[in-house]
Amino acid sequence: MSRVLIAEDETRIAAFIEKGLRANGFATAVVNDGRAARAAAAGGDFDLLILDIGLPGMDGFEVLRALRAERVSIPVVILTARDSVQDTVAALEGGADDYMPKPFRFEELLARVRLRLSGGRQTETTVLTCGDLSLDLRTRRAQAGNRTVDLSAREFALAETFLRHPGQVLAREQLLSHVWGYDFDPGSNVVDVYVRYLRRKLGASRIETVRGMGYRLVAN
Ligand code: CA
Repeated sequence: MSRVLIAEDETRIAAFIEKGLRANGFATAVVNDGRAARAAAAGGDFDLLILDIGLPGMDGFEVLRALRAERVSIPVVILTARDSVQDTVAALEGGADDYMPKPFRFEELLARVRLRLSGGRQTETTVLTCGDLSLDLRTRRAQAGNRTVDLSAREFALAETFLRHPGQVLAREQLLSHVWGYDFDPGSNVVDVYVRYLRRKLGASRIETVRGMGYRLVAN
């Protein structure tokens, strides 16, 4: 059984991760500050560390640097805010570490945990396509026909959800929970607003409104 250390000071997020990992057969422990995370990860009892950046005591970057300076090679999956992804990528060295933008769906985190535990050997889909629309999950770039399109982090996450379910009607609530995770307000019209942004950038005909139900991605 793989043992995962979760360093996260937000109780509901730590509980969300712990519950999911246990249901998938992992042993888990939670620490809620940076110093405890560093000590526990260096102790050698864990196979992987899920490390929040915003931790009291030492932040996640300091914990990671301290561990690497001590030659502790435990694989690390960093939890970071979507708007800090670029800083996070810059802070990662080599291929030993990975990051997960918050908010996330549990399945996305689980895929990264499994990948890191397998030493990064597992092959992962990195390009999603539907007709002439494609998303590169590594470079975070979208391609619509022969145009390369810049998407914000949220737009990208929404496009990714559509591309993972091509042709399928996705309800607003479903899109909210997939893209905005545990942070969403169910009364919000944020999905409609972001669908508009995507239509503007990718072409209006790619996302159909299905009245009373939600939205559907169609191949152009
Ligand atoms: Ca935090």
